[in-house]
Amino acid sequence: MVNLRCALYDIPIVELPARLVAIGIKGFKSNEVVKWCYERKVASFAEMTTLSLTEREILAGNFILTTLSIEQEHRSPDATRKFLLRLSDGKCVESVLIPESDRTTLCVSTQVGCPVRCAFCASGLYGLQRNLTCGEIVGQFMAAARASTTRLSNVVIMGMGEPFYNFEAVMQAIGLWHTAPGLEIGLRKITLSTIGVAGLLDKIFSAPWQPKLAISLHAPSDDLRRVIIPHDHALGVREIIAFIRRYNSEIGQRVTVEYVLLDKLNASAAEAHALARLLRGLDIKVNLIPLNPVAEISYAAPSPTAIARFADILSQYGITNMIRAQRGDHISAACGQLRLNSI
Ligand code: SAH
Repeated sequence: MVNLRCALYDIPIVELPARLVAIGIKGFKSNEVVKWCYERKVASFAEMTTLSLTEREILAGNFILTTLSIEQEHRSPDATRKFLLRLSDGKCVESVLIPESDRTTLCVSTQVGCPVRCAFCASGLYGLQRNLTCGEIVGQFMAAARASTTRLSNVVIMGMGEPFYNFEAVMQAIGLWHTAPGLEIGLRKITLSTIGVAGLLDKIFSAPWQPKLAISLHAPSDDLRRVIIPHDHALGVREIIAFIRRYNSEIGQRVTVEYVLLDKLNASAAEAHALARLLRGLDIKVNLIPLNPVAEISYAAPSPTAIARFADILSQYGITNMIRAQRGDHISAACGQLRLNSI
């Protein structure tokens, strides 16, 4: 039988009262439904005990609350937790929970698989299977929030998938994280990461929400970028620089430039100088990501000395940079290690 029930996390908060009235739930009860969903984070309508039994039945007959379930969980010695989540069509995605002393961050996926196939990333190994719905993107957050002992304060959209290929659902999810009473995550605590897709990246200028933006650059030249990101629609280096300049002035915010460090490919002193010259004068910070190993991929991270030298050269040009801590690599939960059914 086809399931015609709608996922509740697919509905923007402002639309919820009208949707509830339409199925016979009184207007003043919508606040309670929102509270149970987002503040109390219940996993079923049956748990909404301040609603009548009939109201709970009406809700369950019209909506689905949880469209994904935690199939497996792995915990790393550094406290990072990776969840394998099963979607209603049987496919799986992964999310990673990263508790730190002052924050708890969730890394969410936006697609099942990825069409981009970066040379060093596990997520694209089998191409794209499908986009996630907003309800499934927010559902990852709600499942992790239920499993976490601390409040989820930050979201990074850096899991499986290229978010600009699923832009509307991603924006809708950001809207929910930001506006749902009980979540209310500041836009500066949500980071959207992209390779910079031609024809799509500019959508950010007219987007309803402005989260922090991170661009995966990975190379100071087009030739090298094409080897690392062999995707027909990835923007060239000059176009990305022009985009960042426009973003700095129109949105008035800094951009994070992500740069995966690959030994013998893009991590020499020459590349560091070229990158620094390229980025001079822009409002950016560089996030250096030493490669996390992926079994099928033969690239390696540079030595700690080479990584430090690369960072030092950027600093000499006055370019703010940091080396991204390798969290969760014991359980293949670090950047680029998320894949289909991997646990
Ligand atoms: N598709 C988006 C978001 C997901 S990846 C993007 O590419 O930006 C988030 C970051 O992890 C990107 O900068 C990506 O290049 C990086 N990454 C992917 N595979 C990696 C690996 N094996 N080791 C380290 N970083 C990796």
